[in-house]
Amino acid sequence: MNKYGRSTVSEFLGDFVVYRNLDPIDARLPFLAEIRQRIGISATGTPRKTSPEYARVIASLLQAASELREAASKIERVVFVGDTRLNDGTAFQNICLAGNWPGMAFVASEDEAPPQLEVDQRDAGTLIYANRWAAIGEFRDFCQEQDFNIDERTVVLLDLDKTTLGARGRNDKIIDHVRLEAGFQTVSGLLGEDFDPAGFQTAYERLNQPEYHPFTADNQDFLVYICLILGGGLIDLDELVVEVNSARMVNFEQFIGYVNQNADRLPTKLGSIHQEVFARVSQGDPTPFKEFRYKEYETTAAHMGNLDPAAPVEDLLSKTITITQEVRQAALTWKSLGVLLFGISDKPDEASLPTEALAQQGWQPIHRIETDIVGE
Ligand SMILES: [Mg+2]
Repeated sequence: MNKYGRSTVSEFLGDFVVYRNLDPIDARLPFLAEIRQRIGISATGTPRKTSPEYARVIASLLQAASELREAASKIERVVFVGDTRLNDGTAFQNICLAGNWPGMAFVASEDEAPPQLEVDQRDAGTLIYANRWAAIGEFRDFCQEQDFNIDERTVVLLDLDKTTLGARGRNDKIIDHVRLEAGFQTVSGLLGEDFDPAGFQTAYERLNQPEYHPFTADNQDFLVYICLILGGGLIDLDELVVEVNSARMVNFEQFIGYVNQNADRLPTKLGSIHQEVFARVSQGDPTPFKEFRYKEYETTAAHMGNLDPAAPVEDLLSKTITITQEVRQAALTWKSLGVLLFGISDKPDEASLPTEALAQQGWQPIHRIETDIVGE
């Protein structure tokens, strides 16, 4: 593994990026509210990545982005670069269908096994699974062999999370670590001297297990809020686990309802944060714990370009969120060929963009923060 200096994701994407809210960063592109009206999708909630509505929004954004180019040419093909078979695979197929485009996807997750490629031919598009990020070169050869031209009539969608940044199987653990640290700091800040770090760690690790996903909805905002309430002493972890395992406590909505009914027993300092999260959950906000997500932005930014550039590559991979050189190199080549590049991220906007106050101090969105580049 080698270092390739430093850069930003905006080097190849500019501001052609959307985070979870689906409001593009480039101000020339339409916001979700406008696209909804244009294509007639319901106005409740933000479409999630695997839904057909998400794909229709992305297809519409790509059309708009393509029209901004000097030599506007019609999009005829789509390429997707991602890291998860199920989520990215589904989103990719839906986008092919939404735009009526033939597509090719490269989905990688690095492991110790000998390099292998798997071709998955679907009705809408072809997926190539690889266990090396460097196999993106073979992916490009494959496209060429199939007469699938990647040119100015092609759009390339780059997944950001654990693909362009923090490559899965290579540098992705730091992303989870940084989020956990944000939860830790948020809960510690709210509980003050009552904060029990070991108790937080135990509760988080336990309830983060897949068997508790029906209860937590695998939602990190919910999970960190639950750990906060446990830390406040309203209920303890063992009691909660018994309630969940015996199906007396079936989901997060029931949990926060219980907390709300017993809000008078919460430590005073947790009263207002509970009210805020409760109100947002009642409105259906999937990222209701804003304090935690703002902190996640800060801890993420603090783990980009954070080490001495001379640090060994192993240290960079364990302590820094790095740009994936193989993805960057392919993106720069495609860009030079006139390909339309667009970045998508499922990270909440609150965890990806600075607050107004921080922005005034010069803090940048994640895709504009300089960090180290690592790859084969
Ligand atoms: Mg991803």
